Amino acid sequence: MATGRVGDSYGGYRQRLVEQLRERGIKDLAVLRAVGETPRHLFMPAAVRHRAYEDSAVPIGQGQTISQPSIQARSLEALELKGGERVLEVGTGSGYQTALLAALCGTVVSIERLPELADRARSALAEVGVSNVTVIVGDGSLGWTPMAPYDGIVVAAAGPEIPAPLVNQLAEGGRMIIPVDSGGTQELLRVTRKGTGTTQERMGGVLFVPLLGRHGFPTGPTPER
Ligand code: SAH
Repeated sequence: MATGRVGDSYGGYRQRLVEQLRERGIKDLAVLRAVGETPRHLFMPAAVRHRAYEDSAVPIGQGQTISQPSIQARSLEALELKGGERVLEVGTGSGYQTALLAALCGTVVSIERLPELADRARSALAEVGVSNVTVIVGDGSLGWTPMAPYDGIVVAAAGPEIPAPLVNQLAEGGRMIIPVDSGGTQELLRVTRKGTGTTQERMGGVLFVPLLGRHGFPTGPTPER
């Protein structure tokens, strides 16, 4: 990755973010290492780069945000990746979480519904030297059957339900981290595939942008910004 190159003046800030994540209870060393080595500022529009290493959500254009690092770290930790797995990400956004995933597993398939964001994420991923990722433009609430099943699925936008196609595309024992919105209150869930059923664990309240699509909220008559 590009972190080691001369001129990466953000290294100190990035280490401070890693310390903050530790203080907020993140223990998985591989996740902490991935955050320490991934240049989050390169996934952000220039105007907000100075906020790259705050533990907060930051706007990335098109009405979307790059999620809060501690929530992303918690989601990635809960996937319990060992390396080598195939993981589906729904909501590429900036591509930052995609880069973290790429450092933690074997192959990442990431779906984004907005083509402009997918393009920008692809460029940023290439710039930092991430190559085990495929970014697809489409409705991620339907999953992506050509590469299924997935050992892990992480959804970065909150819909009204757990999309059935995503459960179907989870491998036996596979885990999905997904925020679900019930009447304006969002909760992060971990769903584990067990035979034909699932077990679900609650991971607490969160705030994500809406999951739009067939198994998400309706996209509405006016194009979003
Ligand atoms: N993890 C991202 C944050 C993504 S914000 C990051 O690190 O930057 C959530 C993203 O989900 C937005 O880019 C939004 O356009 C996208 N999204 C919403 N509904 C979607 C759907 N049905 N399929 C794919 N992407 C979707």
